Amino acid sequence: MPEGDTIHRAANRLRTALAGRVIELADAPSPRSPIHGRAKSLQGRTLELVEARGKHLLAHFSGELVIHSHLGMNGRWRITADGRMPFGRPWLVLAQGRAIAAQADGKLLRLVSESRIRNDPGLAQLGPDPLAAGFDLEAAAARLRIRGAGRELGDALLDQRIISGIGNAIRNEACFRAGISPWRQVDALSASELESVVAENERVMRISIAKGRRPRSIYRAGRSGCPRCRGEVRSRGQGDANRTAYWCPSCQT
Ligand SMILES: [Zn+2]
Repeated sequence: MPEGDTIHRAANRLRTALAGRVIELADAPSPRSPIHGRAKSLQGRTLELVEARGKHLLAHFSGELVIHSHLGMNGRWRITADGRMPFGRPWLVLAQGRAIAAQADGKLLRLVSESRIRNDPGLAQLGPDPLAAGFDLEAAAARLRIRGAGRELGDALLDQRIISGIGNAIRNEACFRAGISPWRQVDALSASELESVVAENERVMRISIAKGRRPRSIYRAGRSGCPRCRGEVRSRGQGDANRTAYWCPSCQT
């Protein structure tokens, strides 16, 4: 499932393949694409900048146009360098030479002006992204303490306005690595516990970027049990969105 690490990986690949280049072909062949019939306006423009902000991907083109994508639960970006279309019926295709980027499905795909992006309230509300340059661990932990007050840790970690980019798999792994139960109240955590859990979220995301695969030890652990004590891993829906928390009651207190 796409989380912030997935989006940063896609942004990195898109940047490597097409940034600084003039887009020769832009299309939105799927009738289900939210920009069906409009993508051709990107042809002949230069892809100037690609960035990930939490779970949002922004591709900036010359002439003040931006592709804004959010993959939600089931969207995908695929980038190839061999001239092959990664999959059929994309929502968006961008190509130059043999480099092709394709996007399909997801929560959001729009083609808007730079000023719309600058004034977008959803983007403006995003909390700091652990994978962004200059991420301040102590400031993020303080933000989690203040804005997560009155909530369970695992629930607060999914709030993109507190820290952006963390999804269900990442928060479960991070709480396990920090040895802290996702059911603890944020108010009951010490400053060092909060910093530890934020640091582990960042670490899980950085490992995912470096290895191309997210570390997974407790998330959906099933019968194999806890990788540390071999005890039973418990799971239960948490928060308003009822996302499944996985935790080891012995190793996480
Ligand atoms: Zn355990």
